[in-house]
Amino acid sequence: MRVRILGAGPAGLYLAILLKKADRAHDVAVIERNAPDATFGFGVVFSEETLGALRDADPESHLQITDTFARWPAIDIHYRGRLLRSRGHAFSATPRKLLLHILQRRARELGVELRFDTEVTDAADLDADLVVGADGVNSLVRGTYAEDFGERVAPQGCKYVWFGTDLVLDAFTFIFKATEAGLVQVHAYPFDEHTSTWIIECPEHTWRRLGFDAMDEAESLQACEALFAEELQGHRLMTNRSLWTSFLLVRNESWHRGNVVLLGDAAHTAHFSIGSGTKLAMEDAIALSQAFLRHPRDLERALVDYELERQPVVERFQQAAGESAAYFSRVEQYAHMDPMPFAFNLLTRSGRVTHANLAQRDPQFVRVLDAWFHGGVPGAVAPPPLFAPWRDLRNRVVRATAEPDRMPELARSGAGLVLAGPVATTLDGRISPDTPTLHDDEVAAAWAGLVDEVHASGAHAGVLLTHAGRRGSTRPPARGADLPLREGGWALIAPSPIAYAPRMPAPRALDADAMNSVRDAFAVAARRAAGAGFDVLELDMGQGYLLASFLSPESNKRDDDYGGDLDGRLRFPLRVLDAVRDAWPEDRLLAVRLNVMDGTRHGLKLPEGIAIARELATHGCGLVHVVAGQTVPEAPQADYRRGFLTPLADRVRAEARVPTLVGGYLTTPDEANTILGAGRADLCLLEVPDTDLERQVLAAPEPATAAALA
Ligand SMILES: Cc1cc2nc3c(=O)[nH]c(=O)nc-3n(C[C@H](O)[C@H](O)[C@H](O)COP(=O)(O)OP(=O)(O)OC[C@H]3O[C@@H](n4cnc5c(N)ncnc54)[C@H](O)[C@@H]3O)c2cc1C
Repeated sequence: MRVRILGAGPAGLYLAILLKKADRAHDVAVIERNAPDATFGFGVVFSEETLGALRDADPESHLQITDTFARWPAIDIHYRGRLLRSRGHAFSATPRKLLLHILQRRARELGVELRFDTEVTDAADLDADLVVGADGVNSLVRGTYAEDFGERVAPQGCKYVWFGTDLVLDAFTFIFKATEAGLVQVHAYPFDEHTSTWIIECPEHTWRRLGFDAMDEAESLQACEALFAEELQGHRLMTNRSLWTSFLLVRNESWHRGNVVLLGDAAHTAHFSIGSGTKLAMEDAIALSQAFLRHPRDLERALVDYELERQPVVERFQQAAGESAAYFSRVEQYAHMDPMPFAFNLLTRSGRVTHANLAQRDPQFVRVLDAWFHGGVPGAVAPPPLFAPWRDLRNRVVRATAEPDRMPELARSGAGLVLAGPVATTLDGRISPDTPTLHDDEVAAAWAGLVDEVHASGAHAGVLLTHAGRRGSTRPPARGADLPLREGGWALIAPSPIAYAPRMPAPRALDADAMNSVRDAFAVAARRAAGAGFDVLELDMGQGYLLASFLSPESNKRDDDYGGDLDGRLRFPLRVLDAVRDAWPEDRLLAVRLNVMDGTRHGLKLPEGIAIARELATHGCGLVHVVAGQTVPEAPQADYRRGFLTPLADRVRAEARVPTLVGGYLTTPDEANTILGAGRADLCLLEVPDTDLERQVLAAPEPATAAALA
């Protein structure tokens, strides 16, 4: 097979090696515009898992690469004048130049033709049985056939610049530097015995305010050295085409077209803050060469196989890298956090490290974090964050049930808060005939009995108070969602006379009198809930029910004071909140279940959801239960995967500065400990079998100070 590979980066060289190794008869040439020793950037970090794949694919180069490795187990975090160190990690790095030299040498040894100083300007010039675009992030090959590949390229994350330094670090080092223009971060790591990589980044607005947009390479070097003079400890930064730029996120629907295939950065990128671009590029080469071993005479099948194997892996990395890039873009929002949760938030940012696996890598770090949650007593031994008290709740576990009779059982399973609901304010506010209510004093008395039982188990009781609005009068949910009652239904109300779903009846638009009576019914029900002994009242502004349907432009088309812009759409829900706040005892928690986004093209977007949360807090809401979607039956932009609400709750908490409760199919205490430990929410709604929770509660150590243990 005649193979022409454009680009002598890690992807192209490694593929050439593996193809030639598999069959010396292949005619393989790699064409590179640069000289053999020219390269951008400095060191390349590898994570430990990478190494096994490289060893199996080509032990010779693996040995040479790993021989050059600088290795270290620690991550240092410089934040607010403190240095926090987390141990137990496994990093290794090598100079990029050295890595390329090893691969070049190995390729030559195997008979690969390497053509340096050769710029290809027309991809059609590459005439071969197989043409490989391993030509990096700005790939000519990809650009030439962009439409066939379904190319999508967009900037991601902060502005960054890549320097080296002769300061030899002994840890992967993150520095968060406060400047008058905002936070500026450093990602730095050693890559040989003399040198470290030093990448500086900040959001574009900070970059402009610091004047970097108007500086040349030398001026920016000087400014960066001055900014990090303390951390550089008298050492200098070094440049190597060190220009500020934006990371480009590259994605392609397909990675091959006829006999042309994309590899490494040409096919996909993953933000450098998770340090895996080189690993992914080399693993692509392994997968592609193996696909040819499986299908030596069927090019199309080999290329399809390669894509099928690699695309899902790369997507997972891109997901994690995207979370990481987003974290660094808005890390400023976390700058109010104490150092311990700040550091834990950083370590768990991409979802690949959790409370449980960090506890294995670095038990001491996690012990200090857990103790911080229990008031930060030095030397304290404390259970994990899920079992730290919050306000007067014994722990941060919330269990919810639509069946009132299950409340005592959930309380016995160890939850801090048992949330009943939705509970309708009035009979015509029910979702279906079996929706529980607080519509009269008799039912309130029945609730009081259940609340007493919850209290007897040491838990608190909460009620989610709702009016179903245009989602009412349906058959019980067990028969299917949003199916209208065949008989015995009741009239529906909403901000605008638009049916929720095609088969649902159209609601009546609320007039001023009807709005007053809805508001009063909420207040009366809140008083009944207080009388029944509930500790927490959660007002329902979620998932398309009456108050949520006021918030969303999908369902609120009013042209009076209660529609239009966000202020207008929020006006009625705020009037209800104020009335409930007046009716509900001041010392008890008033929460709101809030849709922070609809997941539709014209619906409520997250920034508006955050603005609403901020406003609710100024009206006495002490906790936002973050939910999303269901404003209309179809929400194409909503992604209801497990944990999907966590990033939303995180943003609400950080940006609106209001405590949050989050659910979203959280099924393990580890997920909850990670969320809480990182300050992404204050309470977690868990969906676990009761026995699991009981086991966890029993296993959680009682908080004890070191003195008490002595
Ligand atoms: C700031 C930053 C830090 C990073 N840190 C790390 C890290 O620590 N660890 C890690 O694993 N990854 C890291 N990466 C990612 C890593 O650099 C890339 O993922 C990796 O280099 C991809 O390898 P590649 O072979 O696909 O592309 P490249 O390494 O980009 O190689 C492509 C080659 O093609 C050549 N070429 C392009 N067009 C032509 C043409 N028309 N004619 C001839 N030759 C051409 C180029 O000169 C280049 O040599 C980082 C990236 C950035 C931006």
